[in-house]
Formats: sequence, structure tokens, C-alpha cells
Amino acid sequence: MKQPKVNIPLLPEVLARKELYSSAKPTIIGLTREELHEKLLKIGTEPKDVKMRLNQVWRWIYQKGITNFESMHNISKPYRSLLNDHFHIRRLKISEKLISSDGTKKYLLSLDGCNEIEAVYIPEKNRGTLCISSQVGCTLNCSFCHTGTQKLVRNLSAAEIVGQVLTIKDDLNDWNPNAKPKLDKRIISNIVLMGMGEPLYNYDSVKDALHIIMDNEGIALSKKRITLSTSGVVPQIEKVGNEIGCLLAISFHATTDSIRDKLVPINKKWNIQTLLTSLRNYPKLSNSHRITFEYVMLKNINDSDEDARRLVQLISGIPAKINLIPFNPWPETLYQRSTRKRIDAFATIVNRAGYASPVRLPRGEDIMAACGQLKSASTKEKRLPKKPVEVQESQICRTNI
Ligand code: SF4
Repeated sequence: MKQPKVNIPLLPEVLARKELYSSAKPTIIGLTREELHEKLLKIGTEPKDVKMRLNQVWRWIYQKGITNFESMHNISKPYRSLLNDHFHIRRLKISEKLISSDGTKKYLLSLDGCNEIEAVYIPEKNRGTLCISSQVGCTLNCSFCHTGTQKLVRNLSAAEIVGQVLTIKDDLNDWNPNAKPKLDKRIISNIVLMGMGEPLYNYDSVKDALHIIMDNEGIALSKKRITLSTSGVVPQIEKVGNEIGCLLAISFHATTDSIRDKLVPINKKWNIQTLLTSLRNYPKLSNSHRITFEYVMLKNINDSDEDARRLVQLISGIPAKINLIPFNPWPETLYQRSTRKRIDAFATIVNRAGYASPVRLPRGEDIMAACGQLKSASTKEKRLPKKPVEVQESQICRTNI
């Protein structure tokens, strides 16, 4: 018997999801200038016009933050509809936004309807830093890091990396439709790749995304305002200096291989000496291009005076700054934060050796947005807590930046 046709109304959120993800058209976001040039030719742009068209589209998208082709007023109507027939400019979907009592904002962003990542905006007195992700999950299992308990699902595309910046610029109203905003007027003045994932295990997409973010005709953040943090993927480090040129941070966290093997297991592949040799050869290394050593302070694990002395000996000769990060706990962690007294004693030794050693104030702890606390709700692969290091007293606790 023929079934009567019933029209079931779609819920608004289902419609929104369909609208966001079911488009057969690709996004125009995340294409490098060369790729966009090629695509515009492919859709029928006159070769003599392609450079002009590319510049027009680029400025609308990355300088003015336009999210539809219809608003590109200096482009003819037929060409706008040609663009609209072939591309979309939509943003990532904000699944959840949490605001900390200290003003830090944590965003859960939906990529494709099933995978999610986190990004965090940290407002400070003289700047606003956006921490973005490069992978869904992470393969590296750093034992102090919450993201490390989430298995790697996939790498992000350049579109998804740039998409985090555009989506959060929209949310913070950080666009200036009339001109290139001065840096002190920007809400997002700095970007750090210290969110979920190891950026150097997704090198090509990260490189393309950062070139788009640095492009002077668009978002135009200088390479000195972008910091890429790596756990120490040695073969890629020189390429970062030569091909991207942004600032570099190293998730260092230990002064002996035996401890670093446990905290940052990639150390078993590229140990401390191998890593430091690659840093000594980092292109453009200078006092204005210092390397940041991230050092999470873990009680009775890596926080002794001896550790502090060994740290300054190890990095001797490298223009560097050492960020001391009081550990930010997360559920099931085995570590504890070092006491303030211990952190200060450690900082004094590092400081007397001539290195800046700011102690990073924990930000966004109440919303689990602090360094090393990020973990998206998708694919919550739970790793059973295991004892990472031999500790003396009561043990427990972990981070990233
Ligand atoms: S610290 Fe970075 S590299 Fe290590 S597990 Fe966490 S996200 Fe991955």
C-alpha cells in the first residue's frame, strides 16, 4: 500500500546544520593566493582580470570579514553570482562559549558536524591573544596535557585553522570595515598555536594558514605576533624558520632525558641534546627572535633548584625566554602544581642567569581553558591514569603553553 507522504518539519538546529555542512560548494577560506588564483581562472575569470579579482575578494574576506559574496560592493553583480555559484564563505559553528571570571573565553567549535576543537581568547592589558588548534586530538600523549588523553582524529585543513580566527573575530567584533586597523585597536593582537594538537605534525596546512593570517592585505598579523609551539619535532623546526618565520616556542618541561621521556614522550625520538642543537641552528635566531621555552611547574617532578640550574646550562647561548607555567589540573591527572614558593625560587635562579622567566598567571581555569586543559567533547577516548614519573611525596598532576 502506498504510504501517505508526510512533511515532517525540520527543527531549526537541524536546518542550520544542513545549511552549514551539506553544501556541495567548497569554501573559499584557506586557499593560498596561488591556489585562489588558479581557482578563479578555473571558474571562468578573464586571465587579464584575475589579479585584480583576487585582490578584491581577498580584502573583502580577510580585511573586512564579509561572509557573503553579495556584500562585495565593488565587484560586478554577475561576477559576485559567479563566485557564489562556486564557493561559500561560511564560518565554523560555535557549539559552546564559556566565559571565565577573568574574561578568558573558551570556544568549542564544530568543524564538520561530528568533530570539534577548542580555541581560547585571552584578554590582557596591552594585548589579546587567541590560542588556536591544529589537530582534532593529538598523537603525542604528553602526560601532563589533557589534550593528550584524546586520541588523534584528524589534522585540520588550512581552512579550519584560518576559520578559527575568522569565527572568533566575528564573535569579538574585531573587524574594521573601513581600513586596516592599527595593532593597538585590535581585539586579537597575537595568535599562538598552542591549542589542541602538534602543529608540526600538520605542517603544510599550518604553513598555508599562517601565510594567510600574516598576509598584509588581509588579517595582517606580523610574524612577530604569531607563536608556534612544538613539543620538539626536530626535522621540521628549521623549516618553520625558513618558510614561516614566526616565533617559536618549545614545550620543554624537563632537564633530563629520563624525566622528559615521561612528560613529553616524543623526547624518546628526539632527545634534549638533538632538540637543542636544532634550536641553536634555528634560522633568524636573535635577541629579537628569542625562543620561548615553556616549562610547566610540577610538584616534585621538575621543579628543584638543581633543575633550574641544569635548565640554564642546557640552553646557554640560545637567545631565550623561559615561561614558567604553574600546572593547571584536569580530571584524573597524576600531577600537582608546584607551590608558589618553589616556583619563585626556580624563577630566581633562572633570572639570575640572565633569562627572563615570567611566571604565567593561570587564565580561564574555572572553565578548563588554561594551558594544557583543552580537550573537545568529540571522541573522548579515556586513557586510564597511569603513574608517569617516580615522585617522592604525594603525587598527582599537567599543561601546554
Ligand atoms: S602538549 Fe601539545 S603535543 Fe603534547 S599532548 Fe598536549 S597538545 Fe599534544
